[in-house]
Amino acid sequence: MKVIDFHTHAFADNIAERAIKIIEEESNSKAFLDGSLKGLLKSMENAGIDISVILPISTKPTQVETINRWMSEIRSDAIIPFGTIYSTAENSVKQPAILKNMNLRGVKFHADYQNFKPDEENMFYIYEELIKNEMIIFYHSGKDVGIKTPPLGTPKIFSKILEKFPEMKIVLAHTGGFRLWDDVEYYLVGSQAYFDISYTIGHLKIEQFLRILKNHGIDKILFGTDSPWRDQKKEIENIMNLPITKEEKEAIFFKNAENLLNL
Ligand SMILES: [Zn+2]
Repeated sequence: MKVIDFHTHAFADNIAERAIKIIEEESNSKAFLDGSLKGLLKSMENAGIDISVILPISTKPTQVETINRWMSEIRSDAIIPFGTIYSTAENSVKQPAILKNMNLRGVKFHADYQNFKPDEENMFYIYEELIKNEMIIFYHSGKDVGIKTPPLGTPKIFSKILEKFPEMKIVLAHTGGFRLWDDVEYYLVGSQAYFDISYTIGHLKIEQFLRILKNHGIDKILFGTDSPWRDQKKEIENIMNLPITKEEKEAIFFKNAENLLNL
């Protein structure tokens, strides 16, 4: 079966080792890979993954240009790179058009690491530009193992944004909101948002996981692993073992992602 992993991370060779070490310390977890592009490609081959979407996060305005340049350089048949925008940077509203020109398919946001609120006014201008440029918006949602403060990107906030921008193409990571799955069921299930199922199984009851999938609509569920923080091969096994139909598995593993990415 074809497999698209909609949630992975990789870093340029000169920073991979340090980046992994810092995140490992902050989140008190252990990476399965060395954080390099080569490491990810090897893991994909080993797991039988055809395409990975790589999601970057800038944590300072000065990183934006370098990261986006690297992202645009690593595109291949196996890699779909997204870009990064730092919302309070001077030219952030112009970034969607710049990223579109660099052939980046979407933008990853992580409010806690990038210090903004998803529903602040400046973000609305950025969303409008992203929608106009047909870019996919990818959000970390819910708690984060590396963050101690209350999360800024929550199911409740995203439900308000979805209401304001019904045409927005948005993916909410970790099945709609890590460790806020009751709120996902209350605020988000049935909305137009896509959920990636990365870093979820093992953190909630499997009954609730299956209920969210069915009630939200299998056609809006994307396979994702959060590699290198999860093992791609093991995550495929986890989905293969779910009591859902072969058609549903195909939808989750690649068909929904193909639709969203226009592949
Ligand atoms: Zn991630």
